[in-house]
Amino acid sequence: MNQETKYYTCKYCFEAFIPKRRRVQKYCRNTCRNKAHHARKTATTSQETLPTKIENKPDSTKPTKETINAAGVTNAALGTALANTLGKAFTKEENKPATKKDLLEILKAINGRYHLIKNLAPLSDGRKPYYDIVKQELVYL
Ligand SMILES: [Zn+2]
Repeated sequence: MNQETKYYTCKYCFEAFIPKRRRVQKYCRNTCRNKAHHARKTATTSQETLPTKIENKPDSTKPTKETINAAGVTNAALGTALANTLGKAFTKEENKPATKKDLLEILKAINGRYHLIKNLAPLSDGRKPYYDIVKQELVYL
């Protein structure tokens, strides 16, 4: 019998490895397995996990700080609802117990304030179009 060593390719980091277990092993190590699992989970559930609380109407009698869950905000979850919420939060700060720090953390979680608009041509001077989610305006930077 020819027992030549069979290499597998890790489905996460694409490194070749010799499987240690008899069953089909997709990943070279547990780290890759966990990361792949996590990546898959966030990719498929990001739509459903869009924090619904963030759309809550601001209630001036109650602190709304806990309605903004920066940890639950993912890049994929950035939508009109979130942009509206952030816009209101920045423009009507007197009604919003959320502090500037909270909002800055959200901006960090969603990759910053300015988001490149891919289907708009850059200006002749090379500046590119961005959507400013704070002002809800198109800006060239
Ligand atoms: Zn791997």
